[in-house]
This record gives sequence, structure tokens and C-alpha cells, in this order.
Amino acid sequence: MSQYQVDESGFYGEFGGAYIPEMLHSNIEHLKNNYLKLIYEDKFQEEFQALLKDYVGRPSPLYYAKRLSEKYGAKIYLKREDLNHTGAHKINNTIGQILLAQRLGKKRIIAETGAGQHGVATATVCALMGIECIVYMGKIDIARQAPNVARMRMLGAEVRPALSGSQTLKDATNEAIRDWINNPEDTHYIIGSVVGPHPYPDMVARFQSVISEEMRWQLQEHEGTELPDYIVACVGGGSNAAGAYYHYLDEPSVKIIAVEAAGKGIDSGESAATSVLGSMGIIHGSKTLLMQTEDGQIVEPYSISAGLDYPGIGPQHAHLINSGRAQVYSATDEEALASVLELCRLEGIIPALETAHAFAVLDKMEFKKDDIVIVNLSGRGDKDLATFTEYLNQQSGEQKTDQ
Ligand SMILES: *Cc1c(COP(=O)(O)O)cnc(C)c1O
Repeated sequence: MSQYQVDESGFYGEFGGAYIPEMLHSNIEHLKNNYLKLIYEDKFQEEFQALLKDYVGRPSPLYYAKRLSEKYGAKIYLKREDLNHTGAHKINNTIGQILLAQRLGKKRIIAETGAGQHGVATATVCALMGIECIVYMGKIDIARQAPNVARMRMLGAEVRPALSGSQTLKDATNEAIRDWINNPEDTHYIIGSVVGPHPYPDMVARFQSVISEEMRWQLQEHEGTELPDYIVACVGGGSNAAGAYYHYLDEPSVKIIAVEAAGKGIDSGESAATSVLGSMGIIHGSKTLLMQTEDGQIVEPYSISAGLDYPGIGPQHAHLINSGRAQVYSATDEEALASVLELCRLEGIIPALETAHAFAVLDKMEFKKDDIVIVNLSGRGDKDLATFTEYLNQQSGEQKTDQ
């Protein structure tokens, strides 16, 4: 078995595990003992693959970006997760988990969300299956992510405000866990990234692994090889990255690049560069790298992109980074915004702010002319238009003062 995949006790090297309250023990045990058997049953795979094809719109294209390639002097391909239904990779995971919840006999779904993208993907699959859906969201996030709150409500989900603490993602997660403790029998908790107690990181990575499974045959069609020289992906919790890396982890010639959000700069005090600033600790049931104070209080992360401001990273990524298998870069808010515009103007594609961080590091890397680079285009930018508008206005303001 791969040294980069989860071991029998739920660890990736020294990271991972299931550090959970006693009250959740039987739920997590049940999930742990059954998830592999259930998700690899023929009937499950048939239904999963059919929904990925006809509902999500897979396979997502692997697109050769000609003008971007000319600019950076390498062959750059984009894996178009932005073209999925609901606009990002997150739907791959929620489709898998809703099918699993049905097989576990669950009648009620809970989820946490920060920016609302995972909440929308969860509300979508609950509508698809006719299952009750409750999404916990920090009160502050509800106010600043109004379009996604409206989407969830349109889809029939109940959005419950988390009123404690900083009223953001980590508080919403706490509320979701509290709900699960109170409703262990009939409820499944759909976690949105490769985080949380074992088996969630492994389960979510398997559902997202369809990304790299497709990359292999698609690159073979384009280039006559399944193996790129580089795979680049942004990392919040790390689910789009985990899916993009999955079938390449044991191919040492494929260099794996993880990109974190540096916010206003790594040393600015307003950042989400977890692997640089973090240390080993326990967050949401998992031992991993996280941003914390000396006495173990979680430090509020910051990034312009709501999907990257998570104070930890998935345990598999912590292991990939610590073992040297993955290389980490970071990109600031400003660099990400500049990359959004570059992709718009060079390729006619408006990426999500999260995704733009991955593009921002092309400038910091050195390529040989024949290098093949795949960038995972995790999502589209429609949700970020308010931020882009502000950026454009600020830019045209600066141009006027220059004249
Ligand atoms: C949520 C999100 C991310 C970050 O989540 P990961 O689990 O790290 O993939 C990245 N890109 C987009 C478009 C997202 O919606």
C-alpha cells in the first residue's frame, strides 16, 4: 500500500486519526467499518458514475491553455472542475456522501459551510434525493455570503446561524458537531473537505479522486503520456488538491505543488498559510498542522478567498508536505486577484478566487519548454463578482491618478 495513503489506524504518517467526543464514537466507528465496503459495491459505483456523468457533467475537460502556455514557457493544461454543476469540485464529494448516507439509512443531513459553496453542493444533492438538509453557517458569513444563502434556501435547505465565537466557519463546524451528538441515529454529517476524523479525509479524497483518474487518460490522449511533470492545486482544507494528486502520489516523476493563501503576506498576521505558520495540533477530530497560539488556541486565518481561510489542512497534505512529497508555495490576495484577470484576458475563463491562487505561482516556478503542467481549475468565479468589481474599480481609479 502507498506510504502516502491512510494506514489501518487512520493515520498518514503522524497525522490524522479520530480524536472525537465519546458521544460520536459509535457513529464514526460504524462509518469507518463500512465506508469502503459500501462505496465499492457495484450498485453504488453504478449510481455514482451515472450521476457524475449525467448530473455533474463529467468527465470535466482537460484543456490545453495555449496563450497561458506561451506566456509561461511550458505546456499548461487546465482541469476544468469549474464546468461541473454548481461550479466547483465540491459536488463530486457531496454526490458520493449522499449515496452513502442513503445506504446507512440516514434521513437527515447536516453540513457546515464558510463561504457557502459546500452548503450549496450539499443542499443540491439533498434536493436531488429528497432528504432534509440543515446547513450551519456563522452569522457573519451569512451576512457576507448572501447569494449562496439564497441558493441554499431556494434548494430547500435550512440555514442555521452559528452565533458563538467569531461567528464564522469554525463555529459553524462546532454547531454541526453538537447537532450530530444530539442526533446520532438518523443524521449523517457531510464534511466538505479532506478534514475531520478518520475516515472522512480518506473517504472525501476517494470521491474526489475521479479528478486525477480522468487526468491520466485525458493527458494520454493529448500528449501520449499519462504523467505530467507538475500538478498544481490550491489548498484550503485540501479536497480539490487531494483529488488532483490521488492517482499520481506514487509516480515520483510527477511533482506535486500545493498552494496556500498568504492573505496580506505570510508575516502580516493576516494569512492562511497553514503549513508555514502552523504546528502540530488537533482540529475537528484530526491531528494535523494548524495555526495556533502557544497555548493551543486556534488563530483566526485570513484570506480574500473564503474557501481558503481554514486554520488547518487535511492530514494527508500535512504528511505529503512533511515527507517532502509535495512542495508548498503561497500566493497573496493581490497576486491571486492579478491571476484572475490574467486568466480572464488570456483564456476567457473567470476562475474562483481560491483557484486563482494556484495560477499565481506559475510566475514563481521555473519550467523547461517541454514541461507538462496541469493546474486544477477548482471552480468558477461567478460567486466572487462583487470582489472582482471592487478590484476593477480600484484599478481604474489608480490609472486615473497616474495620468
Ligand atoms: C471550497 C473551494 C476550495 C477550497 O477547498 P479544498 O477542500 O481545499 O479544495 C477551492 N476552490 C474552490 C473553487 C472552492 O469552492
